[in-house]
Amino acid sequence: MKTYKYLIVGGGMAADSAVQAIRSNDEEGSIGVFTKENHGPYDRPPLSKGLWKGDLQLDDVWRNTSQFGVDLHLSKAVTGVEPARNVVRDDAGQEHGYEKLLLATGGAPRRIDNDAGAVMYFRTVDDYIKLDKLSRERDSFGVIGGGFIGSEIAAALAARGKQVTMVFPEKGIGEAIFPPALSVHLNGAFEERGVVVLAGRLVKGVARDGDRVVLATDDGKKHPFDAVVAGLGIVPEVAMASAAGINVGNGIVVDRFLETSIPGIFSAGDVACFTNPALDMPMRFEHEDNANTSGEVAGRNMAGERVPYDHLPFFYSDLFDDGYESVGDVSSRLDVVMDWRTESEEGIGYYMKDGKVRGVLLWNVFGRVEEARSIIGSRRTYAPADVKGLIPTESAPEGEA
Ligand SMILES: Cc1cc2nc3c(=O)[nH]c(=O)nc-3n(C[C@H](O)[C@H](O)[C@H](O)COP(=O)(O)OP(=O)(O)OC[C@H]3O[C@@H](n4cnc5c(N)ncnc54)[C@H](O)[C@@H]3O)c2cc1C
Repeated sequence: MKTYKYLIVGGGMAADSAVQAIRSNDEEGSIGVFTKENHGPYDRPPLSKGLWKGDLQLDDVWRNTSQFGVDLHLSKAVTGVEPARNVVRDDAGQEHGYEKLLLATGGAPRRIDNDAGAVMYFRTVDDYIKLDKLSRERDSFGVIGGGFIGSEIAAALAARGKQVTMVFPEKGIGEAIFPPALSVHLNGAFEERGVVVLAGRLVKGVARDGDRVVLATDDGKKHPFDAVVAGLGIVPEVAMASAAGINVGNGIVVDRFLETSIPGIFSAGDVACFTNPALDMPMRFEHEDNANTSGEVAGRNMAGERVPYDHLPFFYSDLFDDGYESVGDVSSRLDVVMDWRTESEEGIGYYMKDGKVRGVLLWNVFGRVEEARSIIGSRRTYAPADVKGLIPTESAPEGEA
C-alpha cells in the first residue's frame, strides 16, 4: 500500500488549486489525486460559456495538474475513508494511505425522477462534448430548469441557432437570486432571442418516442424535442464523509481552517460547508472563486500553514449580452434594494437582512467586487434608502477592477 503525504479525493478545480498550494510549500511531498472522471482537473465555467461562443477551445480548459508531480488516478472513485487507520479505499478494493486528506468531491447533478434515461445532465467536460456533438446533429432542445446552468445552456444552444424551449416552475429565469422584476425581464430577453420560455410549468413526466424525447408538463401538454438537458442544481457528494464519521450538514462541515471534525482531514470547494465571518452563517458556495480560493487555503493548511478561510467569494455569469458578478448571499428571499443606472440594464442590487448588506449583485457593472466585499464585511446597519449610491452604478475604469 502506498502512503501519500497528501491525498486528495476529487479532481475538480478545488483539487487542482490545493495541489498548486501544496507544491508552493512542499516541493517533494507525495501527492495522490483520485478522480471519478477520466480526465484530470479542468475549468468548468467555459463548458457553458466560452466553448460555445468560440472564445476558447477544448485545449484551453485543462489545468495540467500532473505537471506538479502528482499521481493522478483517473476513473478511480474513492469509496471509503478509515480515519482511524489514515487509509482510503478505492472502487477496485485497493487501499491507499495518507498523512493529510482533502475531500474535494464537489456535487453531482440533481436528477428528475423517472427520467426514462432520456435526460442529459450537464456537469462534466464529457457532458459538454456530448451536447456539442448533438447540437451539430439535431435541432430542437428542451431545457429543464431556469437557474444558473439551465439558463446558460439555453442561451448557448439558442446562440447556435437551435430551437430551444425552457421549462421551469418559477415565474422568471434565475428567480432564486434575481428580484422578481429582473427575473421576469430576463424571460423577455430570452424570448427575444427565440427561446420559448415556459415559466411556471412543472415537468410531470419524460418519455421516449422513437428518437425524440417528450416532456409532459403540469398543464397536460406534451412537448417533443430532439434532446432534453436538465439543470436542476447539484447535490453535494457527502456520503463517504458521513460514513467515515465526519460531521456533515449542508455539505462537509469545516472550521475556519477548512479542517473537518476529524483532524488532518480537510474539505474545500462546492462540497464544503464553511462559516464566513462577514456573513456568520454556515454556507456552501457552488462557484469558481470559492473552489479556487478554498482549495488553495486547504492546500496551504495541509502543508503546515495555518491560514483562515475568511474570503467572501463572488460568482459571475453571462446570459446573451448581459453579464453579472455577485458577492455574498444573493438570495432573492432577502430584502433587495435595486439601484438602477438604467432599469434592467445596468445597476446594483443590495441584498439586506436586519439592515445589513449580506450580498451585492453587480448587473452589467464590472470591477466593483472589492467595493461590494468591503460593504458586506463592514457589517454596518443601513436604512434601505441609504444603500443606493454606496457603489457607483457603472463599471470601474479599466485597471481599477
Ligand atoms: C457548466 C458549468 C458552468 C459553470 N459556470 C460557472 C461560472 O460561470 N461562474 C462560477 O463562479 N462558477 C461556475 N460553475 C461552478 C464551478 O465550476 C464549480 O463551483 C466548481 O467546478 C467546483 O469545483 P470543485 O472542485 O469543488 O467540485 P467539482 O468540480 O464538482 O469536482 C469534484 C470532482 O470530484 C470527483 N469525485 C467526487 N466524488 C469522488 C469520489 N468519491 N472519488 C473520486 N472522485 C470523486 C468528481 O468526479 C469531480 O471530478 C460552473 C459549473 C458548471 C458545471
